[in-house]
Amino acid sequence: MTDLYAVIGNPVAHSKSPQIHAEFAKQTKQDMAYGAILAPLEDFPATVEKLRREGYRGANVTVPFKREAWRIASDLAARALDAESVNTLSFENEKILGDNTDGAGLVNDIVGNLRFDIRNTRILLMGAGGAARGVIMPLAEQRPGQIVIANRTMEKALQLAEKFSITAKTYSDLAGDRFDIVINATSSSLKGELPPLPSGIFADNALAYDMMYGKQTPFMEFAREQGASEIADGLGMLVEQAAESFFIWRGVRPETKAVIEKLKSC
Ligand code: NDP
Repeated sequence: MTDLYAVIGNPVAHSKSPQIHAEFAKQTKQDMAYGAILAPLEDFPATVEKLRREGYRGANVTVPFKREAWRIASDLAARALDAESVNTLSFENEKILGDNTDGAGLVNDIVGNLRFDIRNTRILLMGAGGAARGVIMPLAEQRPGQIVIANRTMEKALQLAEKFSITAKTYSDLAGDRFDIVINATSSSLKGELPPLPSGIFADNALAYDMMYGKQTPFMEFAREQGASEIADGLGMLVEQAAESFFIWRGVRPETKAVIEKLKSC
């Protein structure tokens, strides 16, 4: 019997996850099918229950349901507990196992694909939503010298700073600071906006990373003007977090480079 998986979101039609998992399944010869399910905004749990009844083995969860997935999971992996957000569900008998692979996806992209060593670096993480929350511990595990979090709503940055023992700053307080890695985990790029970063934020040989993918963003333009050495969008993270979910479900680690290249050319 073909094992069934899907990504659940609202909207979901734009998701590249079905294409990515189809590539992984073909490559690793797994007998599985992966679709996209649009869940009503007010009824995510019912959608999950329906998939379980239909015999699905697992699901990815995307905007805006990651927090709700964290709430309904019966068992949580440590990184989902940290993130308070779930992007990977596995259905095992009566249990709903919740995990969060976003952080591993980001780290694997930066270290494995971009070949950027995180150890001892100064990291600026912009944003304090689900995406930022999910990547703090995986970044910290790479032993950077410093992680500073900046967010438009300072209260949220302060909460995360306290929880993860990192530093919170307002955007204006960043003036005069320099970072080796600047990560845009805000949704500003979706609206064609740029977080209010001061000039001179990039250290020599800095990496600018926008989690958004699929187009040049105002942050990527700013990074270019400000002399960042390497500028990346979030496509690699997307494929790497999918690979991590695939590994959880199938116990096989797919090759990601060819899939990233294929998606870039689409
Ligand atoms: P949330 O809605 O949870 O959080 C949004 C964050 O962006 C908040 O911190 C918000 O600040 C901030 N923000 C929004 N607009 C602006 C602006 N104009 N200037 C400065 N800050 C702003 O979103 P997520 O955390 O879930 O997602 C963030 C981004 O990461 C999205 O673009 C998403 O597509 C991307 N992402 C990419 C992934 C990948 O695999 N590549 C995986 C997961 C996410 P405030 O608190 O003040 O409202």
